[in-house]
Amino acid sequence: MKALTVTLRQPAQLSTSLRSDGLIDTVSHVPGWVVRGALAAAWIRTHGAPERAPTRSTFLRLFEGEVRFGPLYAGAPPSPLSVHRHKYASEPACTTAYLDAAASGTFEKPAACADCGQEWVPLRPGHSPEARHVRTSVAIDSTKHTAKPGQLFSRRRLRSTLPIRDDSGRLAGHAVATFTGEVTGDEALVDSLATLQRVRIGGRKTSHGAVTIAFSDTGATQLWVRDDGVLVFALSSPAIFVDAEGRPTNAPTDGELSRVLGCDATVVKAWTRWDTVGGWHGASGLPKPTETVVTAGSTYAVRLADPPRANLAALVAQGVGLRRHEGFGHIGHYLMPTRSAAEVEAAAESLAASVTEDDLLPFVAFRYAQGVIPADLADAIRAAAADDSLVAEAAALARRYGGAFTGARDAKKAEQLLALPPAKVNAIVTRLEQ
Ligand SMILES: [Zn+2]
Repeated sequence: MKALTVTLRQPAQLSTSLRSDGLIDTVSHVPGWVVRGALAAAWIRTHGAPERAPTRSTFLRLFEGEVRFGPLYAGAPPSPLSVHRHKYASEPACTTAYLDAAASGTFEKPAACADCGQEWVPLRPGHSPEARHVRTSVAIDSTKHTAKPGQLFSRRRLRSTLPIRDDSGRLAGHAVATFTGEVTGDEALVDSLATLQRVRIGGRKTSHGAVTIAFSDTGATQLWVRDDGVLVFALSSPAIFVDAEGRPTNAPTDGELSRVLGCDATVVKAWTRWDTVGGWHGASGLPKPTETVVTAGSTYAVRLADPPRANLAALVAQGVGLRRHEGFGHIGHYLMPTRSAAEVEAAAESLAASVTEDDLLPFVAFRYAQGVIPADLADAIRAAAADDSLVAEAAALARRYGGAFTGARDAKKAEQLLALPPAKVNAIVTRLEQ
């Protein structure tokens, strides 16, 4: 498996379906079938049409079976649909901001957070509002070289550069837009794609979609096997599943999974969302057939009869469902979202605000440096709050700051502070820094 990074050199427009209001929309990631189409077109420009051996067999291996092109994302792929968040912001006292129903014995989520009583609701993928913008233009009459009357249209497109903002929201510069994902298949074969030049993605080939591509090594995809032998995996791309009669269904069959994994496998729970995928076929200018899919983020809990024997690597390499070599049915790393840095900071601030003057009073002596606690003492106390073995060290530092007059008392005060719950210790230290 290789990681593929695509950097936009021009804005890009990647449509998946038509809208009735005439706006030509774009998705905010690069679907696997767009990657495959773009690389196949660049390959044909470089090597010529794959009409006879040996170029034909190389082309077929690359684009019609062996190699699988995953979707590319600007950040993380969509979170597993089994993961839920607080309906509103979580409280500082909450043990966790997120809850994964796939971690529960019954695969059900509790109705509410045990700490604050808020409802758990599904996590929805966020869009960066600045990654896309709408551009309105007119069609130009090819003989008169003026705007054609009544031919005004708008398209939404991905920006090739993204604004960087400082803490106060002011523009501090620009970064190029990059998208990363995985390409699965024989490594030498995949590496041969790295030399392709003039790769373009999406519609509007002359003024849009020029990209540079780079391949790099990447580690094996991490799945999650619970202690009770249940495998949990989530899709990083849409997938197409059908039942024995060919009707759309929302999960792979037990037969498909058992065959690939090499042991009996049973889907015991699925968290899925339906969608359709269509789009334009650029070469012919016609709409593509619309497919019923389950979305990226769809998550499956699968009971394995013999977990140590299950071939997880084969499952990742092959993917699930139909039309896999076209970019459907990719399995991603199973990641539990953690609290974002901003959330942790906001929680710490509101906890610091909850510290009363009475809580603070015994420790104001630690403000040795111009009315605030010295940074090394603050660090030592925070470290000791997390690790009991560091309490003596923090107390010794307080003793040095207190010196001959109050050193012994201040060392005692440090121990007294560190006897409080860690969250409270951190909140008091934060107040002493203000
Ligand atoms: Zn809560």
